[in-house]
Amino acid sequence: METEGASSVTVRKTSCTPKAIIHQKFGTNACYKHEEVHESAENGCPGLAIVQKGPCLYRCTLQLPEITVVSGIFKKKKDAEQSAAELALEKLRITPATKSSSLPEAWDGLVSRVKYLFSEEFLSSLHPLSGHLRAALQREGHLAGLIPACAIAVFDATLSNLCKSIDPKVEANPFLIISYVMRAAAKLSGFIASSERELWIRRQNPYPPEIIELSSIQQNPNNSEIIVSPSNRQSGSPEILMVEAINIPCSLEKTVERVILNLTSSGYFLDVIAKQLGLLEAADLMISRPVGKASSETRLHFAAPKQYLLDISSDLLHAKEVRSFEGSLNARASYLSGQDIYGDAILATIGYTWRSKDLFYEDVSVKSYYRMLIGKTPSGLYRLSRGAILAAELPLAFTTNAKWKGSLPREMLCTFCRQHRLSQPMFSTLSSLEESSDSSQSHKKLRATDLVAKDTQHANGCVVTAGSKETVESGGSFRCEIKVYSKFQDLILECSPKESFKKQSDSVQNASLKVLLWLDIYFRDPNVPFERLKASADGLDIRFEPKIFVEAFMLCQSLHNVGHNEIEEGKLVYPNSVNVPNVLSGHGLRSLNIEGPDSGISPSNGSLSCVSYSASLVTEEHLREQLESSDDFEFEIASGAVNPHLESVLIQMSVDQSACFIVDLPPRELIFAAADDSARMLSLLSSKTCCLEYTIRLLRVTEPLEDRMEQALFSPPLSKQRVEYAVQSIKESCATTLVDFGCGSGSLLDSLLNYPTSLEKIAGVDLSQKSLTRAAKILNSKLNSTSGADTSCTPLKSAILYDGSVTDHDSRLCGFDIGTCLEVIEHMEEDQAHLFGNVALSYFRPKILIVSTPNYEYNVILQKSTLSTTEDDVDERNESQPCKFRNHDHKFEWTRAQFNCWATELATRHNYSVEFSGVGGSGDEPGFASQIAVFRRRAIPQEGYPELSDLEHRYQVIWEWTSSDRSRCYEILRKWFSCFG
Ligand code: SAH
Ligand code: MG
Repeated sequence: METEGASSVTVRKTSCTPKAIIHQKFGTNACYKHEEVHESAENGCPGLAIVQKGPCLYRCTLQLPEITVVSGIFKKKKDAEQSAAELALEKLRITPATKSSSLPEAWDGLVSRVKYLFSEEFLSSLHPLSGHLRAALQREGHLAGLIPACAIAVFDATLSNLCKSIDPKVEANPFLIISYVMRAAAKLSGFIASSERELWIRRQNPYPPEIIELSSIQQNPNNSEIIVSPSNRQSGSPEILMVEAINIPCSLEKTVERVILNLTSSGYFLDVIAKQLGLLEAADLMISRPVGKASSETRLHFAAPKQYLLDISSDLLHAKEVRSFEGSLNARASYLSGQDIYGDAILATIGYTWRSKDLFYEDVSVKSYYRMLIGKTPSGLYRLSRGAILAAELPLAFTTNAKWKGSLPREMLCTFCRQHRLSQPMFSTLSSLEESSDSSQSHKKLRATDLVAKDTQHANGCVVTAGSKETVESGGSFRCEIKVYSKFQDLILECSPKESFKKQSDSVQNASLKVLLWLDIYFRDPNVPFERLKASADGLDIRFEPKIFVEAFMLCQSLHNVGHNEIEEGKLVYPNSVNVPNVLSGHGLRSLNIEGPDSGISPSNGSLSCVSYSASLVTEEHLREQLESSDDFEFEIASGAVNPHLESVLIQMSVDQSACFIVDLPPRELIFAAADDSARMLSLLSSKTCCLEYTIRLLRVTEPLEDRMEQALFSPPLSKQRVEYAVQSIKESCATTLVDFGCGSGSLLDSLLNYPTSLEKIAGVDLSQKSLTRAAKILNSKLNSTSGADTSCTPLKSAILYDGSVTDHDSRLCGFDIGTCLEVIEHMEEDQAHLFGNVALSYFRPKILIVSTPNYEYNVILQKSTLSTTEDDVDERNESQPCKFRNHDHKFEWTRAQFNCWATELATRHNYSVEFSGVGGSGDEPGFASQIAVFRRRAIPQEGYPELSDLEHRYQVIWEWTSSDRSRCYEILRKWFSCFG
């Protein structure tokens, strides 16, 4: 997380620290001295100090003109300093409150600060502003020594804080500081000269030559005034330094373009920027606060509006209204900086720092401008954090930390709020225990807010309302509520998802993601109809204040996508709720070509896929420019984490296959944020046939935790052991017909073909189309290839796959010899599992039914041995905490007793016998890893099988294979119909 920049104090920090107050009052007359103290000496155990050296502690002595105070002992120097300052304030009877309420005192502070800035001492200091002073001394002619008021207003945080204490409006309009600086300067006439009309300030008497010399000698520690990198050095004239900057025209019709600033080692860089804007000199400029990252030195520079000068020279009262002065607001620049900016603006990273006396600079490209722009949108933040502007999408669902790639939702929400100058969001987590005993909504809210106030030092802003009562026993039922406030502390929105989580952090991430998703709907298209916005808010458990929301994001209207966007109306589809998958897929995807043999390893929902990809602009004229590429890009399947086109192609692929396809152009801001050379891209984009081409290669697929565990801990893998168990039972039973309930990708059916059995007809049912398609692919190639299944030694006549729910009826599966249902019931809700048992044993009534499901009691062993190396939150678990389920799709996992109860009850009711067994482990405590029940039919049911006339065909045939030997095929059919009596 980035830290709050010094110049952008949040609204909540209303009072200054004791040290800041001392500084305002005494400036350099306050002297702090530190001494290292030994912990044990203070503990009253002096003996220990000799034996054992503990951590270093500090005590601070503060000397002021009138008094000296000594602090207590602290781990950090700065805490000791604050404590000393606090003691001094106490002794001097200065309370922070009197300080801020006393306007004359604040004015005095401001005047003495301005005076200090023009002192000899300041000139040679390492302060971002002192660099300006030194550079100004080198200015030529009448400009020598003139400092633009805007530089003073912007580069001295102490001064701007003083101005804020005089006038809180400065917070909203930092340009007001200029007026205060000029007023303070006017009070110092004699010492400094100033021009209100021209907005500059100069020291009246020249600095003593030795001071100038001293500071300029220090300026060249390595004989170079400015560090000039070789690439920036112009041949022949090493004095000139070319720095790339961006011109953001006021008119939205004009494009953002690169400009080159030619800085000289002897000139003043603000003069160069002023000239670029067609101004005479630096004092005609205004400078914004930093834009982009909190630590950045990137600022916007623009012409000080004429009217502004008038306001200043007239009266400060008028100056307070400068927000509304005439002139053309630069929407793009204002949006970036959160300040009102007028006319054309130049975005540049040049300035002095606390670190060195050398000028600091960095190129700012068109690409970085667009990155800042999309970095203000929730999905843009996600794309940037993934380093995949064109491939990544803000995921629609949060599953686990381990699967989430890129910045976490909570972190992104905080960044978003900071970027939009909102207050930091408020997170309150509630446990369900707490909630049930607490019916009053308002009461609950009060409490959450209460805690925030008490808990402000909680760095991440996360507050647990339920306190320490629960966490362990509750089995985890955390819910999280988020509130987002404007900078004026007005509630913008409130999100309270109904879902509860085992882990507090998951509830926070889930709720944060919902807020981000909803905000993103607006940022993708600020013109989205209100009803749509409202409906999505409802779907995401969000309540918002339309008026305050619109106010907070007013400028987005003119910026995001509007006029940047090639996508036609109606093509963008937004999720109304997170559960609806993003449905862009199918739109505008062309010329798909998948290459390479099918390795059989394909991504499935919830697995992690890793791809290499590249995205390029292409035209029919065969022009091509690569925009973005990655050798290793991993994301969770079916969580919406990538461009839907990409995912829809990917799920058709298997590992080691490559694909190439073309899609419609994404919004321009994304293209420019990805492109290195915006000018070249512009020329390509001017072609009508320009589109975006992706090439991807599927590198690997990491299965969900369950599969990884099963493979890592069991040899052969647990899934193979289950299949082998089933095959063994099938062989022993001499069954000729088999149905696999919940066949998935057909692992059992496929394996069966490797063994000689008496099976003649096999069938599979599942409700996942994707799994069925995969199963069909595998079975089809095996049954139709000569080298595949050795069907000569098996009497197999037919294989069929159905799409349907195993809790539903379909008479085509009645009376089979054997039914299998491996690791399926835990994927249904418990009542559905009961329903399946009843349907299977009363309607389908196979002779034998084999059901397997995870043994929950075994999870302790699984998680002990794998989680420590594979999963995220080992440290958060402890012995008494319940184990996680093995797979996020599991609705339940039963203990042996629960499974026994389910099976025994079913068997009794439907006249079956049941035996228990399992695979994985020895079967001793805590039982097998997978528990298995084998049901055997005791007698043909009285009511018999359904009549032919009652044939129910609820399932849909997905794929069917029949042996070419027709006569044998008919024989089977006859046999099979004979079942119906
Ligand atoms: N039996 C397979 C797959 C297990 S995964 C194997 O052992 O490899 C669980 C499967 O159950 C998934 O493919 C899922 O689609 C399927 N499933 C879950 N509920 C179902 C239902 N009501 N009807 C049919 N299939 C179901
Ligand atoms: Mg399972």
